[in-house]
Amino acid sequence: MSAAEGSTGAGEPDVSALLSVAEAIAVLDGVEVVPRVVEARLREARGLCLAEDLAADRDYPPFDKSLMDGYAVRAADVANGAATLRWAGEVAAGGQAARPLAAGEAMAIMTGAPIPAGADGVVPVEETAREGDAVRIARGLDPRRFVARRGADIAAGTVVLRRGTRLEAAQLAVAATVGAHHVRVHPRVRAAVLSTGDELVEIDQTPTGSQIRNSNGLMTAALLERMGCEVAQLGIVADRKEAIRAAIEEGLRHDVLFVSGGMSMGAYDYVPQLLREMRLDLRITKLRIKPGKPFVFGVGEGSGFRVQGSGNAGSSYVFGLPGNPVSGFVCTVRLAARLIERLAGGVPRERWVMARLGVGLAANGAREFYQPAALVWEGGVAVATPLAWKGSADLFTLARADGLLVRGENEGALGVGAVVRVLAI
Ligand code: AMP
Ligand code: MG
Repeated sequence: MSAAEGSTGAGEPDVSALLSVAEAIAVLDGVEVVPRVVEARLREARGLCLAEDLAADRDYPPFDKSLMDGYAVRAADVANGAATLRWAGEVAAGGQAARPLAAGEAMAIMTGAPIPAGADGVVPVEETAREGDAVRIARGLDPRRFVARRGADIAAGTVVLRRGTRLEAAQLAVAATVGAHHVRVHPRVRAAVLSTGDELVEIDQTPTGSQIRNSNGLMTAALLERMGCEVAQLGIVADRKEAIRAAIEEGLRHDVLFVSGGMSMGAYDYVPQLLREMRLDLRITKLRIKPGKPFVFGVGEGSGFRVQGSGNAGSSYVFGLPGNPVSGFVCTVRLAARLIERLAGGVPRERWVMARLGVGLAANGAREFYQPAALVWEGGVAVATPLAWKGSADLFTLARADGLLVRGENEGALGVGAVVRVLAI
């Protein structure tokens, strides 16, 4: 790779008046959202965010519990060196001791079983030998550390999962533990995806002449589905104002609309103008990002754009993605994802990998640059190598990338081994 491939900026128009990525993020994070709330079966809630706090229904552990397979004993009986105790039956997980433990006795106990009354410790089985009714303990030890006291993990009534928590494996297990078999959650965000462009044909058609297949529709839908959205594909609309207007109106019935193409300065780039005519409040138009400069974000706050149904009091939001596929991809994962995560009732997640550069890079230009990169782990250390940059239309390179290596605005040249941030994709 030549040194120039990592750089941008020479001979570019002045972009100083545009929003930076950080400013755009502040705009997106500052938008008020009112996620919908539904009651769901816990079994069907994976990936959704809680709309309520969940509290412990009882103490955990609910009783003094053995942490080991072994013998329940009285600590005083084994504290002073080797001891021989009388076998006094057994207690299994889910069971209950038949009678209290008396001095000089040992009751076989399994992990998770309740400590019998009268006992206050457990000697692990490895430290013992049983001969008939005699239980020999090899050496003196404090058996109390093998007991989890009732309430030691969580006391009854304590909040165990806060609202906004995303329910993945561990959180589902906690909810299941405290008996929250039905939970109030924020449902899947309803997203619509629309592709504009006279040149587009559907993916099962054969393009002729200067036509191309609508790859953005599927790509954007896939990103949104991965974020947990329910996606409506609105297909292709030609570069005609009235057709685009009608399609946008349809799209704005969803929580969020993604429109690709027609975002920039071309003669048929109607989308931002149309959105304004439709009284959407465009809070972002153009960004200091590469690729993805013609990115648009608008909020439909007029009553006509309020999302109908399920008690949602929120607005509808529209993202205008540049038609160039890599631009649309970058803007969706870096920017739109933040609002989607908030609409889903969660908080935006950062997905950075700190890596060492595998090659030296030239100075960056005036726009924050997200370059498709390969990530490999060498001896446990991530090493990032940018893939040769052929521009924002180069989907083929993007499809080979593990992440997007970020260069700051006007960042200087970087040597091999420099620490860089890579956005996991
Ligand atoms: P535009 O933003 O409409 O000026 O489009 C920029 C570039 O992206 C053009 O080369 C378009 O052909 C291409 N493009 C636009 N929409 C799509 C799409 N849905 N799928 C693939 N490429 C697209
Ligand atoms: Mg176009």
